[in-house]
Amino acid sequence: MENQFTVNNPATGERIQTVQVDNEEKVKDALKRGHEAFKTWSQINAHKRSELLNKWSLKLKEHKEEIATIMTKENGKPLRESRGEVDYAASYIDWYAEEAKRIYGRTIPANTESKRIIVTKQPVGLVAAITPWNFPAAMMTRKAAPALAAGCTFIVKPAVETPLTMIRIVELAHEAGIPKDVVQCVNGRGSVMGKLFTESDYVRKITFTGSTAVGKTLIKNSADTIKHVTMELGGHAPLIIAKDSDLDLAVEQTIASKFRNAGQTCVCANRIIVADEVVDTFAEKLAAAVSDLKVGNGLDETTDIGPIINQKGYKKIKSQMDDALENGAEVLTGNKYDVDEEKGTYFVHPTVLKNVKTSMVMMHEETFGPIAPIIPFQSLNEAVKIANGTPFGLAAYFFTNDYRTGTYLSEQLQFGIVGWNDGAPSAAHAPFGGMKESGLGREGGLEGIEPYLETKYLSIGNLDFSGE
Ligand code: NAP
Repeated sequence: MENQFTVNNPATGERIQTVQVDNEEKVKDALKRGHEAFKTWSQINAHKRSELLNKWSLKLKEHKEEIATIMTKENGKPLRESRGEVDYAASYIDWYAEEAKRIYGRTIPANTESKRIIVTKQPVGLVAAITPWNFPAAMMTRKAAPALAAGCTFIVKPAVETPLTMIRIVELAHEAGIPKDVVQCVNGRGSVMGKLFTESDYVRKITFTGSTAVGKTLIKNSADTIKHVTMELGGHAPLIIAKDSDLDLAVEQTIASKFRNAGQTCVCANRIIVADEVVDTFAEKLAAAVSDLKVGNGLDETTDIGPIINQKGYKKIKSQMDDALENGAEVLTGNKYDVDEEKGTYFVHPTVLKNVKTSMVMMHEETFGPIAPIIPFQSLNEAVKIANGTPFGLAAYFFTNDYRTGTYLSEQLQFGIVGWNDGAPSAAHAPFGGMKESGLGREGGLEGIEPYLETKYLSIGNLDFSGE
């Protein structure tokens, strides 16, 4: 990479802005400053930190339209979704502004009169974050808010496709009064920044959202300095529809889960597993609703499905589609592409496929596109086997109005987030994260602040006053 890179609009191919790459010297200096700032930030009382976080959140809300427009231009997602993401990003800051005041320790009764045992929580130190392009705002605040609330300092590297949203959000943090060295943004290639972050003695924690392959590299590279790690990695969500489900609700929620951000989300329903008794009716209803979705530039308020982020993403979708069609999948709607290689724009029309088999590539690899493959099942055990037949374990969904079926599925599914009659379970106040190769740790809820805290045990002796 040169000393700068260009951010393009994936819907038009137009150049939006050029961003300066931070060289090694600059990044090392930023890490040192983040480390130094920790000494003062960690000592500021929790109520003051909370107040600053609240001011930051307010800034995001005041600048919602501006940030949403930047996001749609660099990421491509429809404005409606970008506005929703700004709200979602702010909700993490709101939640952790409150949690800052609830970082409690405890006292433990000692087994002798001469001792007192006190447990306290302390911030881990400087946190370095790397985030992906698909949620340019929320993936950052989900990490920065608990880190700052805990008393950590924070440095982030956004994806090269979508740095502008993040740059603006960090500026707003500074405008809100959070010191410049407490939250910083550096730009450049992930492979370079990842190395600088993991090799640095100043960094005590790495928090990453992105692909499983990169997550594994970061875990390995964090081993030499024994850093804390939180990993939000890839997913391949199953969505099971039992024979007794409310099919209209299932269609509506499948669309909410599958087609948000043109299917480029880690929690997207990628494998739609439907009871044999209702598969034809469900497929027909889903295809009819999906064929109404409008593809286009996200800046157009009527757009439902924006562009695919880049050629690499498009090629992956296309090769999964080619494989499925060669092996007998039937297209109910979609399988249309508006591609302009010269401009670098890639639109994939939302697609519903039937007659999908477990051997097809799209049943094993994360799709990251608006393709909904439907596969039938005969027994609940078969549905569970298909659903769990992946190294991923991030999100799973199922639809049923039968409490026995629901209880069984909720217990059997090996996934960190499970939606029962719910295609959109994410919330700042709930723990988000994956099992198996989908990650380590949780973000959001009570659980989301713990990874930024160390536990310190203080034992005070010589406290027996009985003889005095
Ligand atoms: P990616 O290739 O892993 O990129 C994500 C980030 O990692 C980018 O900032 C990228 O930098 C950086 N990166 C790339 N190579 C690196 C390396 N060797 N060392 C350190 N950092 C490196 O992922 P993506 O394909 O852009 O994003 C989609 C993935 O994210 C999917 O797998 C999706 O499921 C996952 N995701 C997970 C969650 C979750 O919460 N579990 C949420 C959203 C997305 P560059 O700018 O150089 O590319």
